Amino acid sequence: MRRLIGIGVSPGVVGGRAVILGQRGRVLRYHVPPERIERELLRLEHGRERTGEQLREIRDNVSKRRGPELSAIFDAQLLMLFDPMLVPRASTLVRERQVNAEWAIQQVYHEFSQVFDEIADPYLRERKGDLADLVGRIRMNLRHGAAVPRDLLHEVGEECVLIADELTPSVAAQVDWTKIRAFATDVGSRTYHTAILARSLEVPAVVGLHDASRLIQPGQLVVIDGTNSTVILDPGDEELARVSRSAAALRAAAPPSERHKPAVTADGVRIRLEANIEFPDDLAAARYAGAEGIGLYRSEFLLTGDSGALHEDAQFEIYRRMLEAMAPAPVTIRTFDVDEDQLARRELSLKVEAGWAVGDRPARQGLRGLRLSLARPELFRTQLRALLRAARHGCLRIMFPFVSGVEQLREARGVLDEASVELKRRGTSVPDVKVGVMIEIPAAAYTADLLAREVDFFTIGTNDLIQYCLAVDRADERLSSLYEPLHPSILRVLVMIRRAAARQRIPVSLCGEMAADPALLTLLVGLGLREFSMTPGAIPGAKRVLAELRDEELRSLARRVLRLSTVEDIERELGTALERFAV
Ligand code: PEP
Ligand code: MG
Repeated sequence: MRRLIGIGVSPGVVGGRAVILGQRGRVLRYHVPPERIERELLRLEHGRERTGEQLREIRDNVSKRRGPELSAIFDAQLLMLFDPMLVPRASTLVRERQVNAEWAIQQVYHEFSQVFDEIADPYLRERKGDLADLVGRIRMNLRHGAAVPRDLLHEVGEECVLIADELTPSVAAQVDWTKIRAFATDVGSRTYHTAILARSLEVPAVVGLHDASRLIQPGQLVVIDGTNSTVILDPGDEELARVSRSAAALRAAAPPSERHKPAVTADGVRIRLEANIEFPDDLAAARYAGAEGIGLYRSEFLLTGDSGALHEDAQFEIYRRMLEAMAPAPVTIRTFDVDEDQLARRELSLKVEAGWAVGDRPARQGLRGLRLSLARPELFRTQLRALLRAARHGCLRIMFPFVSGVEQLREARGVLDEASVELKRRGTSVPDVKVGVMIEIPAAAYTADLLAREVDFFTIGTNDLIQYCLAVDRADERLSSLYEPLHPSILRVLVMIRRAAARQRIPVSLCGEMAADPALLTLLVGLGLREFSMTPGAIPGAKRVLAELRDEELRSLARRVLRLSTVEDIERELGTALERFAV
C-alpha cells in the first residue's frame, strides 16, 4: 500500500481499477486482458494499413500538383511506417505490457523522440515532427475517425477511476462519469475549471499529485479520497471497508425535507444560496440541492458541445429551456468567458476534427471575457440576441465577465441596446433584463462605486480576484500555497466591494469557490455578504453550517479578523471561533 498526497478538490472516497490518460489528456492507457490481446494487435495492423493507403494517396496528389520533390516527405513517412522499429515494436509492447494499441504506439514515439533530440544535425533532428505527424495519423486510424479520449473511454468496460497527467475541462465534459467514478491528476488546483466541474458532478477528485500518472499502472487498484487529499495505491481490506462505509454514509445524507428549506442563521438572518453550473443538465442538481436560483451559468461551456451551439437559434433554445426550468427563480447567464486562443481553437474545430479547449485552463489575461466579446461584436451580438429572445420565458439576469472599467461596461450596454433594437425591428418583444458585472479584476474592485451606478447587480468572482490581487496563477499547483483566500488584502477588497454595492443599493453576490468552503463562508457572512452562488453539492452543507451560527457572532469574528495582519493569524482566529461555535 502506498499513499500519494495531493490537493483534494472534490470530496468523497471511491476505489476502482485505474485507467491512465496521458500526453496532456490525449492518450489513454488501459489494461487489455489476455483474451483481447490478439484483437488489439489486429487493430494496430489495420491502423498501419489505413495509414499506408492514406499516405500513398496524399503522396500521389501532391506529386501531381506540386511535383515529386514535395511528395518525397510522404515517401519518407511511408518508409518510417514500415520500419520494424515502429509498429512491430508497438505490438511487442501491447503483448508484453498488456496495454492498448494507442498507448503502445505513442510510447514508441516517445522512445524515438528522445533519440532524435540527441542528433546534432538540425535537419535530421527536425524529422521528429514528421514522425509525430505519422504517429498521430496511426492513432487516428486505430479508430475510424478521431481518436479523442472520449472515444477511447468507450473501450473501458467496467467502472474505474481515471488517473491523468492533465484532465482538461473539454475532455472532462465528455467523459462518461457513470463509468469513471473518481479522478486524480498530476497538475491542477482548487479553482482549476476541471476541479470546479468535479464538484458540480460530485465526482471525488485529487489534483496536483505531480507524477501519479507515471507511478500508477493501468488496472492497478486505487482509492481516490478527495476529502482527505490522498490517493492510495493497492489498498488493503481495511481501507476498502472504509471506502464502502463512507459511500453508505454519503447516500444516507441530506434528507429531502431539509434540502428545500431556505438558509437562515441561528439568529434568523436570511442568506440566499444559488448554484453555479456549467451545463444546462446541471439544473436538475441545482434544484435537487435546493438552490434558490442560478447565480452563475458559465455559458462558455456551451462551446464544448457541437458546433451548432454558436448559432442564435440554438443558443436561444438552450437559454429558453433553462429559464423555463428554473422559473420563477432567476438564472444568471454570464456571457462567454474565453480568451482568444480558446476561441480560435473552437472556431478551428468547426472545420477540422481537432482537440480544442474552451476552459482548458482558466483563460489568460488579456483579450478575454467581455474584452473579447467587444472585439468580436458579431459573436457577442448573436449571444445577446439569443439571451434577449429567451428573456420572456423566465427570470433572466445577464452578467458580463472580466470587466475592468466603466468604459467597457458602457460599450457592452451599447451592444445590448443595439441587439434589443434589432429584435424589436424583427417584431420580437424584449422585456427589461437585469444587467450585472463580475467583480473579479482588482481594477473593477477599486472602481466598484463607479460601476455600481451603472449596473443592476454585482457578482464577486473570487477565483480570479484572488489570482490577480495576489499575482498567483490559479492553475499552477506549485503556487497553490500562495493562493490564499484569507489574505488580508482579499478580505479588505471584499468589504470595499460590498460597501460600494450597499451605497448604490444593488445586490451583491459572491460566486467564487471560497463560498463553497463552510469555514470561509461563515467569515464571508460575518463580512456582511448575504448572497452566494456555489456548486450545487455544497449547498446542503452550507445551510447546515449557517443554521448553527449567529450572525451577530460572525460579525464580531469578522471585525477581529480584519484587524489581523497575517493569513496564519486569521486562520487561527477563524479556527478557534468555529471550534467554539462547534462547527
Ligand atoms: C471567478 O472568477 O470567481 C468565477 C466564478 O469565474 P471563473 O471561475 O469561471 O473564472
Ligand atoms: Mg472568473
